[in-house]
Amino acid sequence: MAKIIDGKKISAEIKEELKNEVAQLKAQGIEGTLAVIQVGNDPASSVYVNNKKKACAYIGINSESFELPEETTQEELLALIAKLNADDSINGILVQLPVPKHIDEKTIINAISPKKDVDGFHPESVGSLVIGQPGFVSCTPAGIIELLKRSNVTIDGKNCVIVGRSNIVGKPMALLMLRENATVTIAHSHTKNLKEICQNADILIIAIGKREFITGDYIKEGAVVIDVGIHRDENNKLAGDVKYDEAEKKASQITPVPGGVGPMTIAMLMNNCVKAMKK
Ligand code: NDP
Repeated sequence: MAKIIDGKKISAEIKEELKNEVAQLKAQGIEGTLAVIQVGNDPASSVYVNNKKKACAYIGINSESFELPEETTQEELLALIAKLNADDSINGILVQLPVPKHIDEKTIINAISPKKDVDGFHPESVGSLVIGQPGFVSCTPAGIIELLKRSNVTIDGKNCVIVGRSNIVGKPMALLMLRENATVTIAHSHTKNLKEICQNADILIIAIGKREFITGDYIKEGAVVIDVGIHRDENNKLAGDVKYDEAEKKASQITPVPGGVGPMTIAMLMNNCVKAMKK
């Protein structure tokens, strides 16, 4: 039976470390403030925004909320971002995604100063990751690296298969695993022989957004399985992209859903906010 990689516990440890670091920075007179912008009132986004603000309060960073109405124009949002970019009291800027359809997400991401890009989505942040320069890294993949390292998983030299190539998970994940000297395969919806490719993975990272798609027969005996997916059914029960009860019989270590990758995303956002304080 696989050992559970406890994302709740590891994220709590990270937040505790960050809290101490923030206290030390404050003692040197350095304050941190994260600007959190939400356009419209999508209930799921409101939950995420509240959790991010709570995490800020916990580690000792200020958060300034900008709750804009659904009909906010792209120009109005860009004007607010420009104002926050120029404001020295703001270290980090986060626009909760998705934004309403009349606003172009890429234009918004590109408008945030790379110095304040705590989500790590700006092309400059992504480019820095590609060529191994310091910069903000997308929170979910950065959190997965922490999960692996703090669970004593050796990455160097291992075969890592990542299923999914989104800009926020799959692609940055592949770059981070490459940085850690894994041999990386990226699979996606056009990949042939997905099962055989997955069976070759020492570390299998799944971010496809399809409930319980990866069954036990995709998994090599003893592999480490990281499940990024989150799905809620009509009874409010959560599941991932991996069929957990089958996978846990094959894997040596596995992340559960909930309580695996999910809690790490906010912890790593806080890590990026602390990085921004030091800039
Ligand atoms: P996207 O929908 O942006 O990307 C899904 C990727 O999976 C695409 O690259 C797609 O390929 C690939 N894919 C889809 N179907 C298949 C298939 N049958 N076989 C192989 N590849 C396939 O999703 P995200 O990366 O944003 O998110 C993935 C999951 O992770 C979702 O469930 C999401 O809710 C969750 N998530 C969880 C987070 C957390 O904090 N725990 C954070 C972010 C996401 P192609 O490119 O060819 O279309």
